[in-house]
Amino acid sequence: MKIAASFQSLKPVLSYELFPPKTETALQGLYEHVLQLMAFKPSFITCTYGAGGSTRNKTLEVITEVRRRFDVTVASHLTLVGSTIDDLRQYLTEAKEAGIDGIVALRGDPPKDSPQFRMTPGGFQFANQLVELLSREFPEFSVLVAGYPETHREAPNLEVDLDNLKRKVDAGSDVIVTQLFFDNQDFFRFRDRCWARGITIPIVPGILPAQSAEQLNRLGQLCGAKMPADLLKRLSLQPDSEGQAAIGVDFATQQVRELIDADVPGIHFYVLNQSRATKQVLTNLGFEQHVVGSAT
Ligand SMILES: Cc1cc2nc3c(=O)[nH]c(=O)nc-3n(C[C@H](O)[C@H](O)[C@H](O)COP(=O)(O)OP(=O)(O)OC[C@H]3O[C@@H](n4cnc5c(N)ncnc54)[C@H](O)[C@@H]3O)c2cc1C
Repeated sequence: MKIAASFQSLKPVLSYELFPPKTETALQGLYEHVLQLMAFKPSFITCTYGAGGSTRNKTLEVITEVRRRFDVTVASHLTLVGSTIDDLRQYLTEAKEAGIDGIVALRGDPPKDSPQFRMTPGGFQFANQLVELLSREFPEFSVLVAGYPETHREAPNLEVDLDNLKRKVDAGSDVIVTQLFFDNQDFFRFRDRCWARGITIPIVPGILPAQSAEQLNRLGQLCGAKMPADLLKRLSLQPDSEGQAAIGVDFATQQVRELIDADVPGIHFYVLNQSRATKQVLTNLGFEQHVVGSAT
């Protein structure tokens, strides 16, 4: 339960999210980027679980290797897509044996060719059921769940979405990590509504240092987050990638500064398997850098 405990002793708790690379070359590159990011001593690193359960083995392999190489606390994302309850148990047992500290418990998105999430026969329908399984059978894991400052796209409104979030919290979640967002007012409103419902676990903003207008538009379609018109405009006026990256870093620096000033318990960076932008944001914010070893 190291992840859950870190929120009691540190502020802000720093974490990064990776995804399993598709090629061996990209995998080696990822370890180099993680090495760069380790200089800021993150409290934990997570790795996503691909759509349709497609990266099951890869997720566990990558996050176990990150833990081994960098001696850092790690969490595996896990979704309900394509898994029976027994498959989920099997994964959790393997993750426990591999020394994984936390599980980011998610429902998952439907595969690209299917408009709706369909429950796997013998599986679960909603993430709160996975949280219940974790609390009952795997109490040693820290449990992280997803929250949506702009409301989940399938929920009819924020209040209904919050009822469902509360269900996940009551089932035994330790931490809420939010979907990426660019307008801090959305986060503050969401946090206030969570507090009003008696949700007291840490609510950690998920931050993406944007790198280009094209990247922002693609991610916006994928996750449904609202894209900031002013940032998009500034990015698209820049002729080269260096200029665009600098604008993204500047925006994220200001966004995170305001969040830290508003006393958030942690910052979760969607690093997209890169290090430069996140490193620059953390440097701008005055996070201390430490000397780290090698990526092997
Ligand atoms: C931090 C973070 C990490 C993510 N990592 C991944 C990943 O690794 N892999 C991946 O595929 N996706 C990932 N996602 C995306 C996520 O899987 C999708 O957003 C998915 O559509 C919803 O997942 P959830 O866990 O929030 O689902 P749930 O909490 O189950 O909610 C899904 C929808 O159902 C509603 N709902 C929930 N419970 C109930 C209930 N009991 N009765 C009726 N309605 C209910 C909710 O309001 C919501 O609209 C991540 C998202 C975030 C924010």
